[in-house]
Amino acid sequence: MSKTIAAISTGSAPGGIGVIRISGDNAVEIASRVFLPIDNSSLTELKGYRAKYGNIIIDGEKADNAVALVFRAPKSYTGEDVAELSVHGGLLMVKKTLEAVLKNGASPAGAGEFTKRAFLNGKLDLTQAESVAELISAEGEQSLKASFNALQGALSRKINSVLDSLLDVSALMAAWIDYPDEEIPDLSEDELKSTLEKCRNEIKALLDGYENGQTVTKGVATAIVGKPNVGKSSLMNMLTGTDKSIVTHIEGTTRDVVEGAVRLGGIVLHLSDTAGLRQSDDIVEAIGIEKAYKALDSAQLVLAVFDSSQPLGANDLDIIEKCKNKTAVAVINKTDLENALDEEEIKKAFEKTVYISAKNGDGYDALEEAVSELLGVAQFDSSAPMLANARQKNNCENAFASINEALDALSLGMTFDAVNVMIDAAADELLSLTGRKATTEVVNNIFKNFCVGK
Ligand code: GDP
Repeated sequence: MSKTIAAISTGSAPGGIGVIRISGDNAVEIASRVFLPIDNSSLTELKGYRAKYGNIIIDGEKADNAVALVFRAPKSYTGEDVAELSVHGGLLMVKKTLEAVLKNGASPAGAGEFTKRAFLNGKLDLTQAESVAELISAEGEQSLKASFNALQGALSRKINSVLDSLLDVSALMAAWIDYPDEEIPDLSEDELKSTLEKCRNEIKALLDGYENGQTVTKGVATAIVGKPNVGKSSLMNMLTGTDKSIVTHIEGTTRDVVEGAVRLGGIVLHLSDTAGLRQSDDIVEAIGIEKAYKALDSAQLVLAVFDSSQPLGANDLDIIEKCKNKTAVAVINKTDLENALDEEEIKKAFEKTVYISAKNGDGYDALEEAVSELLGVAQFDSSAPMLANARQKNNCENAFASINEALDALSLGMTFDAVNVMIDAAADELLSLTGRKATTEVVNNIFKNFCVGK
């Protein structure tokens, strides 16, 4: 018997509709105590996948018009009986309906508890459960596609196919070891090796795509740097399409680091528009500059802006120096003005140089292309299976290491017994990745990062 839980499943801002989700053995019974169908029927009689229009009843009085949806176990998101009440989405109405549901016997759902129950009831594996969280938080087009793809089981299928191969090899070896007198076909060492190598390569391909995937799905911390008045704020505005940072003639007006996220192509750039990078005696300004240098140090991508209407100055050279060893694009701005800049130093120092006019928006496409190429995401395929987080990566790294050990052991002529221990270790990592054999601690850790209502 599962405890019946309830939570608000829609956001925490007012909207047209707010949904209260109830899941567990008494879900429909509890919903029927706060919802009366317009035809006076009882919700408890309703079959799965049916809806009723009616009223929310709080303290014996009609409180709102609502729609109740009923799902019957196991055909629901959680695999349990589920009722969903859609009320008008004012925050107070949604909250009051939830309170009524709780008063009538449901317990408040914990963070991610609906999805956790879906996992425990075999509706989703762990990679799919994680993709629910990714899908909800996705900010970019590619990220959305990739997480939906994972929800559809792209990664699970890939991992399970490698796992099946490993388990086949392991079973065969175990049989060969345990029943030497039986009619078990001879194990060819070459075949074993080639199967293991194939498994290893598939895991390697997933690991190789990890950084790229993270860049595309999570976005990159980006610093816009340049001496005062080169057009950093203007570039930021060109990217955001809003007047988020102040554009002005007076040097040093961008005193602090302004944060914002923009999409450039399929990638999300987490921008910090930084105060001019230069020496300063003004204390407030100096704090801004210090922050700017910090932003530069921790940035995964730097957009270094130069003014094409002025010769290179000491500040520019300083910035060029700071950008060494960084993933950086030189952005030569103000191309609408007469050119006075000798670009040789810049071109030598940066892998990519683009020309823009932040004033009239020229060069946007070139910047987009340069960033995408520089980050190596130009060829990103969001439909390919992809590792979504450090947990999944860690499991794959361990599996990869164990398969390598097994291959080495085979080459050294170690016994099948010993080799099989390593293959089993690799299989265990993959079982843990998809959750078929994950510890309670791993499972709890995953769901504690979800929001309530998911
Ligand atoms: P920041 O100090 O680097 O943030 O520079 P701003 O974005 O505040 O720009 C400084 C000045 O340069 C402002 O007067 C802008 O209007 C001007 N500016 C910025 N970009 C361009 C451009 O592409 N062409 C021209 N002609 N002026 C620009």
